[in-house]
Amino acid sequence: MALRNALLAAAACALAACNQSGAPEPDPPAVQLYAMDCGHSTFSDIGMFADDGSMNGQSRTLVVPCYLIRHPSGDLIWDTGLPEAIADMPDGWRPDGFPAHFVVPVKLTAQLQQLGLTPADIEFVSFSHMHSDHTGNGNLFTASTWIVDADERTRMFDAEHRADPQDFNNYNRLETAETQLIEGDAEHDVFGDGSVRVIQAPGHTPGHTVLLVQLPNAGAVLVTGDMWHLAESRERRLVPSFNTDRAQTIASMDKVEALARENEALVIREHVQEDFDAMPRFPEALN
Ligand SMILES: [Zn+2]
Repeated sequence: MALRNALLAAAACALAACNQSGAPEPDPPAVQLYAMDCGHSTFSDIGMFADDGSMNGQSRTLVVPCYLIRHPSGDLIWDTGLPEAIADMPDGWRPDGFPAHFVVPVKLTAQLQQLGLTPADIEFVSFSHMHSDHTGNGNLFTASTWIVDADERTRMFDAEHRADPQDFNNYNRLETAETQLIEGDAEHDVFGDGSVRVIQAPGHTPGHTVLLVQLPNAGAVLVTGDMWHLAESRERRLVPSFNTDRAQTIASMDKVEALARENEALVIREHVQEDFDAMPRFPEALN
């Protein structure tokens, strides 16, 4: 009987991954990654995305995504896009003195509803960084736990940002939300099993972060915030002119490239149309 059991175990191990003691490995968590359309920005001049002047005078449309990660232990929204109030503006939003036109074709809340969710159902919220095309719907997620780099949070609530209600009022109510601060160079393991990690990649802002997701079938995916704004940015290591620390940004590019190699990760440059188009079309998910 013992022999028969051993043979059955060996046969099972031939069909599934087993550890050295012969017991089947636990199934990886059924994590799913959804790419949602949270607007787009059409720039009449993308010069600001390259501080070497090489992109001056060119026009380009940048996609603005939101990412939803569904894990058996909860949901995380990563970046919340442009404010969904723009969807109610008949011709979108054209800020004075800024060379861009912002459009939101479908509200984030309407997309969550397609999955039977409201913002209050989302356990965790995190932004790659504080800029308004990432924190635009931050105040929808005050019932979530906010995962944020300590330096980034300090900057978001400093006097200069409080004095700019246009952007500040998109996220200001998170000040009293339940918060998990990421200190120093630490990374944050969202669900405690290594499947979803918020990793520091500062420079664009003081606490810019990227997200590394391990999917059971598709493998590793790196969602890289504003590490690279344009299709040209990664290969040419372009640094935007609106940036906190150039040397730190270059060092973070090296760090994220190493992470991508080590994990053989699919790299998503969030504002690049072809990377967004390579994701399953919502409400389909990558898993
Ligand atoms: Zn951005």
